[in-house]
Amino acid sequence: MKEGMRMRRVKNFINGEWVDARSGQFFQSINPANKTEVVGVVPKSGGEDIDRAVKAARKAYETWRLTPAPRRGEILFSAAEILLKNKESLGKLETREMGKILPEAMGDVQEAIDMGYYMAGEGRRLSGETVPSELPNKDMKSIRVPLGVFGLITPWNFPIAIPAWKIFPALICGNTIIFKPSSDTSVCAAAFVEVLAEAGLPKGVLNLVHGTGGEVGEYLVSHPAVDAISFTGSFDTGKHLEAICGALHRMIVTEMGGKNAIIVMDDAKLDLAVEGAIWGGFGTTGQRCTAASRIVVHKKIYKKFIERFKAAGSRLRIGDGLRKETDMGPVINESQFNKILQYIEIGKKEGAKLILGGKAYQKGSCSKGYFIEPTIFSEVTPEMRIAQEEIFGPVVSVIRANHLEEAIQIVNRSLYGLSSAIYTQNVNSTAIAERDLETGIVYINASTIGAEIHLPFGGVKHSGYGRKEAGGRGGALDTYSRWKVIYRDFSGRLQKAQIDK
Ligand code: NAP
Repeated sequence: MKEGMRMRRVKNFINGEWVDARSGQFFQSINPANKTEVVGVVPKSGGEDIDRAVKAARKAYETWRLTPAPRRGEILFSAAEILLKNKESLGKLETREMGKILPEAMGDVQEAIDMGYYMAGEGRRLSGETVPSELPNKDMKSIRVPLGVFGLITPWNFPIAIPAWKIFPALICGNTIIFKPSSDTSVCAAAFVEVLAEAGLPKGVLNLVHGTGGEVGEYLVSHPAVDAISFTGSFDTGKHLEAICGALHRMIVTEMGGKNAIIVMDDAKLDLAVEGAIWGGFGTTGQRCTAASRIVVHKKIYKKFIERFKAAGSRLRIGDGLRKETDMGPVINESQFNKILQYIEIGKKEGAKLILGGKAYQKGSCSKGYFIEPTIFSEVTPEMRIAQEEIFGPVVSVIRANHLEEAIQIVNRSLYGLSSAIYTQNVNSTAIAERDLETGIVYINASTIGAEIHLPFGGVKHSGYGRKEAGGRGGALDTYSRWKVIYRDFSGRLQKAQIDK
């Protein structure tokens, strides 16, 4: 699995075989740091490819659900070992296809490794409850059972970690899968599925179908023989898919956008807060669902914070993520590139003060890619569009607050509720923030990013609906399995609960 500059010809993976789309058509996946480099040629699938994959997954379900969970776990463990062995080459592939800098891409692969080992262990722990009955000679318990055939739809910003977050728990719980990755990162998706095939997954258990969301994605979500859907992506797409699933009475979990914020109080360690704001705002070029796109700063330190934040932002080096010296890579594609530049114009028109960046970055070889300067607006007010709408790029708004309660109100005045953070040395302020911030995740003296795989992950409001990803109980295991309750009466006579005393 050596990663050079080669172009890959990827295929669908259906019933254990690598096959082209029935249409015989293809599309290209390109390197966002260099539009002239084709990373892969990908099958443009349609409904009939999904039909074949669903049929294979339905058939495989009958044996996979009966395979003991510890045996399923052994395959996951092998997959994690193969990922570990190939971490660097997979990271390089990810940098070429998605654009994030290599250390971050390798972090993405590490997340998949962690999830593989964690879920492998869960194979020996998929425990339910055994509780005493109120009647004699009767026992009762709850057990986890799979949901059946899962359709999984993923975005491009974590091309290996997010599929791993869904595929590993779905498999350990005994489901079979049709995986539809983002069109922008199809090659990474195929490389990840190759790992699972190599680890020994039986045919039909995991099927990969490439193609556009509007065509194959929606067909998959609506397919009559699919039992449940897990989606990560934008709010607009997620809401649309929730409506389809609602009408079909089909379980769906949606993880969607964010407009995450960091509060910096007047007693914060300022340099630490600046570092956190840089990492949260410009890490992954601002293309994380948990990116810190709003920094809410106490009025007493506002000026000082702005000076240091601007200085740190101006030191970021932009370029190809494979180069060691690069701090920030390109954005994913042309439509995101145009959308982000439009938001910068919106910010200027709204009266925010542009203090850093604000343009495409086209120096040297960067003219071949989708590069945008790290951009900071100060004097942003909470109702401005740049403070309300998800931009998903390297654009950060700094907002002034008079006191903690106002800062919390500003953070909460958002349609989204994924992640938030507070920098302060006051323990009471941390307690209030922890209690009152309306987000799925709260960080104290750390940036809005950095979730670990063994706690549940997900947001509220427009950031998510329903169950959580990652974690064990209360998280991914509850998403990818359902409870069945068993009562066994061995008294040999009719016993009536609540009536016989
Ligand atoms: P997106 O446009 O919604 O696409 C996500 C996935 O859905 C892609 O595989 C896409 O396929 C597919 N899709 C698009 N339209 C569809 C339809 N009508 N039916 C079925 N599938 C469809 O989002 P994105 O641009 O890839 O990702 C960025 C978004 O994801 C941001 O909003 C970000 O905040 C969010 N995100 C959230 C989390 C989280 O955990 N909360 C994590 C990461 C990202 P194509 O690629 O073929 O269009």
